[in-house]
Amino acid sequence: VEARQAYIDRNPKSFARHQEASQAMPGGNTRTTLHNAPFPLTVVRGEGCRLWDADGHEYIDVLGEYTAGIYGHSHPVIRAAIDRALDHGWNYAGRNAYEGELARLIVDRIPSIDLVRFTNSGTEGNVMALAGAKVFAQRAGRAKATKVMVFHGGYHGGVLYFVSGGSPVNMPYDYVVAPYNDIEGTRALLAKHGEEIFAVLVEPMQGSHGCLPGDPDFLRALRDETRARGITLIFDEVMTSRLSPGGLQARLGIVPDMTTLGKYIGGGMSFGAFGGRREIMELFDPTKPDSLPHAGTFNNNVLTMAAGVAGYGEVYTPDVADALNARGDRIRDRLNAICAKNDVAFQFSGIGSMMTAHATTRPIRTAADIASSNQDAKELFFFDMSAAGIWIARRGFAALNIMIGEAEADRFVSAVEEFVTARKALL
Ligand code: PLP
Repeated sequence: VEARQAYIDRNPKSFARHQEASQAMPGGNTRTTLHNAPFPLTVVRGEGCRLWDADGHEYIDVLGEYTAGIYGHSHPVIRAAIDRALDHGWNYAGRNAYEGELARLIVDRIPSIDLVRFTNSGTEGNVMALAGAKVFAQRAGRAKATKVMVFHGGYHGGVLYFVSGGSPVNMPYDYVVAPYNDIEGTRALLAKHGEEIFAVLVEPMQGSHGCLPGDPDFLRALRDETRARGITLIFDEVMTSRLSPGGLQARLGIVPDMTTLGKYIGGGMSFGAFGGRREIMELFDPTKPDSLPHAGTFNNNVLTMAAGVAGYGEVYTPDVADALNARGDRIRDRLNAICAKNDVAFQFSGIGSMMTAHATTRPIRTAADIASSNQDAKELFFFDMSAAGIWIARRGFAALNIMIGEAEADRFVSAVEEFVTARKALL
């Protein structure tokens, strides 16, 4: 209660902005993820690895725009690319010089992607991948295959709220929800519904659901089962493609049939993509008869494509990806060592540069482990991090960006240490 009141007292200008916004947007919000009680802070500036809010507080940004902000703020190489693009106009209704180059970079790096198409968001990438997989199944004679298998706790975008019991916000896909990291439970569902399923859509690490890594044996079982049944295996790597030069799939050595991408690959601009095996992606080839339409005014948005070529091609190179993920592993190890030393029910899960705090002692392997987290402790963590000048998601999620130096990494670790020692009695 005290920490919450301190947050309110410290941020009067953000509160005023929230009240103003609430007059024109429901709850002052246009992006559900960004709502947090009592009100979200208003950010007015970002530079390097830092952010400033409306009340003048400075933060080290460890949230990294939920993985889209991997380059930090206003990275000079990306900024120069956008400046150059701006000089030549940005609405051509024509192919531009960047899109083929960005596609080439992706095809060269992500093992499962022979061909790729762009969208405006990760959500849309998933919608299009599912459409392609469904038609692929039907043209292969699997007429009964009308459902997608998804996993408890998975997140695939704002119009795809697959939850048990149905959701009023959903694209019209019938679906079966399977238990993540549970090989036998998932096999049983596939045995029962296999005929009806055209695709299995899975995050190889569930990002929004607490950085819950997929058990490699579980993911391999999905690969084997889907291959045997003629089901398209889609890895949603919208968040996880940053976890190695070739995505988490390359790190795991598991190649799905299709992959969806998003977030940082467009240099921090609106971005999404879907790609995969040639015979599936060729369904979208407009030179072929009966091809599937995939239009979208901004699919090849000049600023995104230019920023993407610079960001993904020149800045987030394979070496940089390896270095950032190694640093993430080191930071998470340090944080967990601090939690262990203080003997608190607090820990950090994740892989490489992505991590989430959990207020529990249970190892993070299943949805039940995540649900065991003490929510009050997590809220306190958020308020304390905010007071300490650490920009992190309310749910305890962090995604490191490449502008974070050793000093800022140390500051993040010491802020967590201060939290753990000061709040020990509550953890
Ligand atoms: N898939 C995953 C795994 C995500 O984490 C997200 C966004 O957080 C999406 C899809 C949706 O991407 P977007 O927000 O760009 O629509």
